[in-house]
Amino acid sequence: MAIRPILTVPNPILKQVSEPVEKVTDETRALMDDMLETMYDAPGIGLAAVQIGVPINVIVMDLARDGEEPQPQYFVNPEILEDVEDVQPYDEGCLSVPDIFDTVERSERVKITYLDYNGERVTEWAEGLYAVCIQHEMDHLKGIVFIDYLSRLKRDRAVKKVMKAEKLKAARSEEHTSELQSRSPSR
Ligand code: ZN
Repeated sequence: MAIRPILTVPNPILKQVSEPVEKVTDETRALMDDMLETMYDAPGIGLAAVQIGVPINVIVMDLARDGEEPQPQYFVNPEILEDVEDVQPYDEGCLSVPDIFDTVERSERVKITYLDYNGERVTEWAEGLYAVCIQHEMDHLKGIVFIDYLSRLKRDRAVKKVMKAEKLKAARSEEHTSELQSRSPSR
């Protein structure tokens, strides 16, 4: 298992539409293991494969609360079969838009079907946070990030803030590298 870098907006890969997975193989499972580890490390509650630069229809999620046993969930080729008209507003965040939170309205309940870690077909209703999270992650598979639902002004502001923070982070790690280099003997 390995922690992979998470892409942030405005990386154009995040706009790509992900491809269906033909079959759940050991390779798919290795990817899901990496995704879960990356998500826990971030930390976050959901991650789509495209967020680590792999545009295929794979999502991992863990909605366990603090102190509860981990409850990893894996979704390959998820589809929404039915949704209810009632919407619930939820203050969403995203690992690809770090430190930005805003309200998005989504269906309160959705009936979904997907293949699990072992490639078995699961069909079930998701509600509450589960419904919010699966709709958010499935948007990633269509190249949609939650800030796309906000006003243009809010979206532009969010992207600028993320770009600035990423730049700072890169500068800081560069500083750290040159510090290490200057500390090591030159000859
Ligand atoms: Zn997200």
